[in-house]
Amino acid sequence: MAKPKGKTPSLLAVSTGTPVPHTCGKATPCDRCGETVSKGDSCFQIPKMKSGFINHPIFCTVCTVAIVEQTKIELSVVENHVRSNG
Ligand SMILES: [Zn+2]
Repeated sequence: MAKPKGKTPSLLAVSTGTPVPHTCGKATPCDRCGETVSKGDSCFQIPKMKSGFINHPIFCTVCTVAIVEQTKIELSVVENHVRSNG
């Protein structure tokens, strides 16, 4: 697959919601790696806030897993801050 550029985004940083399982009605490029997800293949829609509008780009399963992992890492950092101040 194509190699995504840059830091893996997390749901905390870019998203306004939860990834939703989605089946592509037509071949659609993954918003992160650009790999085309074929019609009928499963992928995930992740709501993204951009310039005040919410988009619903799709992400291939591999990128979605990476984004969820990154979110866990960032979330544990937030959790540590919260706990140490509690
Ligand atoms: Zn991808």
